[in-house]
Amino acid sequence: MQNTVANSLSLQSVYYETLNNKDVFKITLQNSSVSVGITNIGCSIISIETPDRSHRYKNIVAGFSVLEEYATNKEYFGCIVGRYANRIASGIFSLDGKKHHLSINERNNHLHGGFEGFNKKIWDIAGFIEEPEQVGVVFTYHSKDGEEGYPGNLQVTVSYCLNTKNQLCIGYKAQTDKATPVNLTNHTYFNLTGFDVPEIKDHLLQVHASGYTEKNRQNLPTGSILPVENTALDLRTARKIGVNIGTFPFDMGYDHNFVLDNFSENKVNLAACLYEPLYGRVVNIYTSQPGLQVYTANFWDGSILGSQGLYYKKHGAVALETQAFPDSPNHPAFPGTILNPHEQYLSTTVYEFSEK
Ligand code: BGC
Repeated sequence: MQNTVANSLSLQSVYYETLNNKDVFKITLQNSSVSVGITNIGCSIISIETPDRSHRYKNIVAGFSVLEEYATNKEYFGCIVGRYANRIASGIFSLDGKKHHLSINERNNHLHGGFEGFNKKIWDIAGFIEEPEQVGVVFTYHSKDGEEGYPGNLQVTVSYCLNTKNQLCIGYKAQTDKATPVNLTNHTYFNLTGFDVPEIKDHLLQVHASGYTEKNRQNLPTGSILPVENTALDLRTARKIGVNIGTFPFDMGYDHNFVLDNFSENKVNLAACLYEPLYGRVVNIYTSQPGLQVYTANFWDGSILGSQGLYYKKHGAVALETQAFPDSPNHPAFPGTILNPHEQYLSTTVYEFSEK
């Protein structure tokens, strides 16, 4: 299917193959300057092509050139992470007096939804959006009661829409039949040089956060929210990522949850700005979520051949994951993450592309 809508917007959906008895598609959303490739394996963003200040186009996100690789995707390139993004301590939480045990897939903890998180599922395509100002695709996934230990059948909908203002809007919805924690994010990694420069140390990052969730050696929150002031996490004014990336020997780079200043429930606010001065590409990130995990690909080791035809190196890109705080079900003081029956989980994140 290929449709051109008004304002140079176009939408294409191409059947790619059948995997585990499910049809896999490659979908392309395009406007006059941005092109976004998406697949239903893991509901993943596989490419984002944008111009630099000299109108040269590059794919600025980490990905694979062969779609099947999204079904394993150890580094979570571009995918939707769930049912609970980030960690839950010992994979245990209690709800209404009942203890729930989730799968333990990272050391002693539950990470990114478990062994077969939402990133490994082949999602259904529920429909396409073709409007004068935006084109998009809507995916659904039904997560069964008990999957990876989570209670309740969870019906999840994720939409990706590209509009005429060079904004890619990710809309999340979910409903459940039993109370369950829900924390959905997208795990796209950006390198705004399109990996021409193999590390993101010269990218400038600004995060609108005065605090961060302190964590222990297992990468779990202690429960304290500490000020970023006078620390390497003070990114309230834009800083080169490389300046302080070496100050976290344990993490080998940034891997922290920032507490966003502008958070207000159900509103979409500016969270971060990533700028690459050599080529001039900019990504602004807006979200309705309270947190932003900044992760600088600290364990990439040059073994993955990316879609740009290059091997991805340590610190090759940065993931800016809009999310609820890690391990929130075990920290009642953190913004709530429990979805109850008859409620609707709603969340929005916007990536806005420009050049300067
Ligand atoms: C986490 C890291 C983890 C990585 C896996 C990030 O979201 O914060 O701790 O290693 O995902 O790709």
